[in-house]
Amino acid sequence: MNQLLIKQKMPKFITKTLITLAVLFFLYFIITKITASVVDKKYNKIVLKSPYSPSKKAATVYSSLPFVADLHSDVLLWNRDITKRHSHGHEDIPRMIEANIALQAFTIVSKTPKNMNYKGNDDKTDNITMLMVATGRPPATWFSLKERALQQCKELYSFSKASQGKLRVITSQHELKTYINDRKKNPSQTAGYLGIEGMQVLEGELANVQVMYDAGIRMMAPTHFFDNKLGGSAHGIKKGGLTPFGKQVVKKMEELNMIVDLAHASPALINDVLKVATKPLLVSHTGVKGTCNSVRNLSDAHIKGIAATGGLIGIAVFKAAVCGTNAKATAKAIKYTTDLVGVKYVAMGTDFDGAIPAHFDVTGFPLIVDELLKLGYSNTDIAAIMGGNIRDFMLNNLPE
Ligand SMILES: [Zn+2]
Repeated sequence: MNQLLIKQKMPKFITKTLITLAVLFFLYFIITKITASVVDKKYNKIVLKSPYSPSKKAATVYSSLPFVADLHSDVLLWNRDITKRHSHGHEDIPRMIEANIALQAFTIVSKTPKNMNYKGNDDKTDNITMLMVATGRPPATWFSLKERALQQCKELYSFSKASQGKLRVITSQHELKTYINDRKKNPSQTAGYLGIEGMQVLEGELANVQVMYDAGIRMMAPTHFFDNKLGGSAHGIKKGGLTPFGKQVVKKMEELNMIVDLAHASPALINDVLKVATKPLLVSHTGVKGTCNSVRNLSDAHIKGIAATGGLIGIAVFKAAVCGTNAKATAKAIKYTTDLVGVKYVAMGTDFDGAIPAHFDVTGFPLIVDELLKLGYSNTDIAAIMGGNIRDFMLNNLPE
């Protein structure tokens, strides 16, 4: 081939390659959009579909609640555009505002084992790598648990920006106070703060606690479904206590005013954290052994221990946590816990969009109030359980 012919053919070759790449990229984009939606719908089912019909009294009490809040939602995992209303999954900003939600913890999942179960899982396999690829997340998230966490933090801030004032991200007591005042004037807005399920996102480095803090994270649970460098999971193999590295991390978190979440922790890990912690602890989504005897749930001794730190127990809305598929089962667990330690230490911790069939979507929150009224709770106690306790906890425990 002579020089002239090469010169004529090269631009054609480059154009063809660019077109092919563009088509492939477009196809990848479309496929990831479709896959994200299919997977999201498959895993985040709802037992009782909206619209809901609470009693007139419950609806009135609910709409008068000044601050409704929830300690746990994994909605960021699925790449769902939460600025838009969806008919699937458990929440998005429009539904949160309709449901009068003032504050939602957005908790980040980074790795879950294949054939995940409550009894025993090792850390050899992972479902989330494929989910990151299939939902179109950047390649860095395909290989790094830390990047998965940072990506989901970025996504919450992007949603907040796109929401044009409808969703705020709260990182301090000062921001929370300002938001509470602003919301009195304009209740058509909601807010969230960032948390982590499983500190494998630290990738074994203490310095990454600061990295997570800088990304906006304010609450972290040492373990999720498998034992890690910090200690044992309730669903791990060894289910051990807090390791020396785990102790360093808890200390660093306390220095930064990050909240330690004991959800999914092994009993030995809970015992150890109770010994070393000097600040209030919480369990963001759980049931209680007193109404549902499962390894994922809290014993009476642990409920008492956590309450004694000035902590919170967040009660969930799915069968494996409360041994029932409706608001009544969740209210029963709430009653058991308040009878044991008092109303001040109990909150909602739904686990919305955490790959669970939830009793209802977020607009079904008044159904809980209905059940709490039947159990004889006063309006003041209901306001505390439905969010007042979380507001007070955050006003005391977030960084100033
Ligand atoms: Zn969980």
